[in-house]
Amino acid sequence: MRKDWIKEMRLLVDGQFLADEPLKKHTSFRIGGPAELLFIPKGVDELIKAIEFLDKNGIRRYVIGAGTNILVSDKGLKGCVIKTVNALRGIKVIKKEKQRVQLSVMSGETLRRLNEFAIKNGYIGTEFCFGIPGSVGGAIAGNAGTRLGEMSDIVEDVILIREMGEIQRISKDKLGFSYRECQLPEDSVILSADIVLRDGGKDVSIKSSQELKEYRKKTQPYGFPSAGSIFKNPKEDSAGRLIELAGLKGLRLNDAEISKIHANFIINRGKADAKSVIKLIDIARSEVQKLFGIRLELEIRLLGEF
Ligand SMILES: Cc1cc2nc3c(=O)[nH]c(=O)nc-3n(C[C@H](O)[C@H](O)[C@H](O)COP(=O)(O)OP(=O)(O)OC[C@H]3O[C@@H](n4cnc5c(N)ncnc54)[C@H](O)[C@@H]3O)c2cc1C
Repeated sequence: MRKDWIKEMRLLVDGQFLADEPLKKHTSFRIGGPAELLFIPKGVDELIKAIEFLDKNGIRRYVIGAGTNILVSDKGLKGCVIKTVNALRGIKVIKKEKQRVQLSVMSGETLRRLNEFAIKNGYIGTEFCFGIPGSVGGAIAGNAGTRLGEMSDIVEDVILIREMGEIQRISKDKLGFSYRECQLPEDSVILSADIVLRDGGKDVSIKSSQELKEYRKKTQPYGFPSAGSIFKNPKEDSAGRLIELAGLKGLRLNDAEISKIHANFIINRGKADAKSVIKLIDIARSEVQKLFGIRLELEIRLLGEF
């Protein structure tokens, strides 16, 4: 990797540059070592320029949204972490035909703002994601959802920034969506997405949003940092139920704990590190495998060396 690349990049690209930035400040888990550089672009053109610069110079890049579905290594990340949430903003209606409403949504918008926009205008379709934290880009990358639906139900296509800053539009059928998965090409950053909703249902969206908020409050461990569900639910079962049956609720290692409220959540009780979280993940996995013959797959994404 080139020395002084950060200085060089600063001269070419506009945005916020945070060198040696602790990533625990940028993840909902409040865990993660330093990024060599955390870069928050000033806008779309600057993001494209940044990607071009990084790729030309062979500098490893990562992209995060709001950091609500990731566990970052305690050793941190070499290279450049691009943070999009609140940096790439904009939601606009681009087409309306009868009840079909097509929106263009920037990847750094939060799901919360997308929901507020839908409710305000009486558009139906985003109810499933009321209360899910994070950015639209991160939600598409992980096909976020609930029992009521998932991102692939409303995404029509996405605009990606590929290697060297090349722009590409990809339709939904080429994104390989499945349960909490989206097969994005490895080098790509989601810039924006076209999302299709239905016009005419103010009361429906407000009612579902309230129900979902109540359900979340009762079933999820609010009050402690976490990254949401650690594992995907296996077919026809729930990861939380299996971990609970294995007697692991409340198991604690340093400040990391398998939640007593929902066993598929690991919470950070203060100064938890990634190493302790990984150890709890390994224990849950091997106990569930031993007792039920089921291999739990991670829902959270691991960034860095473990
Ligand atoms: C309390 C809590 C509750 C949660 N409940 C749910 C739930 O009910 N359902 C659910 O599905 N999830 C849930 N989550 C997980 C998380 O909120 C979602 O997955 C969310 O959509 C992730 O968005 P993010 O911006 O935080 O992504 P990040 O955590 O920043 O990133 C996640 C992944 O997406 C990639 N990524 C992010 N932005 C982009 C981009 N612009 N282009 C390409 N790749 C990108 C990252 O590289 C990473 O691999 C919950 C999390 C918490 C903390």
